[in-house]
Amino acid sequence: MNQLSAQADALVLSRRTFFERAALTGAGIALLTGESYGQTRQEQQKGRQDGSSSDPGPENKSLLAENPNSNQPPFTDHGNPGAIWFSFDLAPKRIQAGGWTRQVTQRELPTSKDIAGVNMRLTAGSFRELHWHTANEWAIMLTGKARVSVMQPDGNMFIDDVGAGDLWYFPAGYPHSIQGLEGDGCEFLLVFDEGAFSEDDTFLLSEFLAHTPPDNIQRNMGWARQAFDQLPATELYIFEAPLPERLEDDKRFLGEHLENKSRYTFNLAGMAPTQLRSGGQVQVVDSSNFPASTQIAAAMVTLKPGAIREMHWHPNVSEWQYWIRGKGRMTVVTTGATARTMDFNANDVGYVPSMAGHSIENTGTEDLVFLEMFKSPRYADISLNEWIDRMPDKMAEAHLKLPLSTIRSAPQGDNDVLPR
Ligand code: MN
Ligand code: MN
Repeated sequence: MNQLSAQADALVLSRRTFFERAALTGAGIALLTGESYGQTRQEQQKGRQDGSSSDPGPENKSLLAENPNSNQPPFTDHGNPGAIWFSFDLAPKRIQAGGWTRQVTQRELPTSKDIAGVNMRLTAGSFRELHWHTANEWAIMLTGKARVSVMQPDGNMFIDDVGAGDLWYFPAGYPHSIQGLEGDGCEFLLVFDEGAFSEDDTFLLSEFLAHTPPDNIQRNMGWARQAFDQLPATELYIFEAPLPERLEDDKRFLGEHLENKSRYTFNLAGMAPTQLRSGGQVQVVDSSNFPASTQIAAAMVTLKPGAIREMHWHPNVSEWQYWIRGKGRMTVVTTGATARTMDFNANDVGYVPSMAGHSIENTGTEDLVFLEMFKSPRYADISLNEWIDRMPDKMAEAHLKLPLSTIRSAPQGDNDVLPR
């Protein structure tokens, strides 16, 4: 899959690579003047209007139709900041009786070292086998309902039912379960704070038992050899099972061992926006309002058609996005004047390197909804407009080379979403 995106990149960048080579072989001086492609802004714009951008060779037309900004990059794009896009719809899909799973990890999106994502479907009654893992797990239910449980080291178990829009957080090492409920089961997104995480590489109840000698099992549980032979010999992973009892019945079963103090689920739909503007809204969920989520922060963003997630960056960590609904384009600007603009659709994953400036525009006709995920206890951003707002007049004029009246006409403060 890396090769696939690398090939797409190579196709898309072939024209610019030509210019880059021309600049390098023609005159090293061009690099020193800051025009590393050896072209002025006027020449770059002209290249887009004459025949220079024609592409008479082979083209993957359906891919280019979905990615107009890769086909005809804005003239402001420059160089290659590395992969900022992948899609769950290109990831290998593991289908078993009871559901399926696919993942976008550092293997599919090599730039994403901090976060990996898993998309999973469970039919009614089906389980993701009881397990635990080295990464912390943050999740959002996309559709349907599930019952989730997690046991703490003190032996108390938290159990809850979650529906579309609800979140959960399971700390690394805590054993947990996910089961699809009545109706059509569920589909959800899991987010892990390890880029190299693999959902195929978790600690499983079945494997702990199957790979412990039977006499240890007998001493530990008192189960005879005959019982050992009846246990699953290989992983269950995803499998069909009868629907559970009512939630109240499972809670009653737990009795005094039911965890009531720590809440490992969160009702995002019921949360007031952290920032509400005419262009849309942002809901920030981190350890300040979802205390269980100690290592992962999230922002759910809604942009109306034409609205923009304002130019900003995150001073603490990289950003991993999951695009839920609508379409848009993101521009990422990193060091060395490197910039890339790409198109995104539902079920795509976006990536922004730590500290890199970025903005996102809704280019569709319906609301754009996407998640920003961070490997951090707390959400933090720096708004470019707010920074300009704080620059004393002479400092701002000296840098921007604009009349003060123009500079001060920008929206004031940190808006997250524009228009205000
Ligand atoms: Mn898990
Ligand atoms: Mn951001």
